[in-house]
Amino acid sequence: MPLFEYYCNDCKKDFTLLQSANVNKEETECPDCETKSVDYKFSSFAAKVAQTSMRRTSPVTADELPKKSVLNLPLPRLRSEL
Ligand SMILES: [Zn+2]
Repeated sequence: MPLFEYYCNDCKKDFTLLQSANVNKEETECPDCETKSVDYKFSSFAAKVAQTSMRRTSPVTADELPKKSVLNLPLPRLRSEL
């Protein structure tokens, strides 16, 4: 199932839901406040395509690489465990 991105007009924030492609997006509720006042943005698949096409005009900078490796590192342990 694809991921769909929405914007909640009450929470003023984005959220992502895993839904079947033929779900009625008009009936989608915000998982936090359960309002139906949400805007469907796009599927994450479409977003990735858009980002990929945008990246082609600007090559990956050295600044992006350290961020990715940091994300893969385990969370730091408490100091008492060291
Ligand atoms: Zn909400």
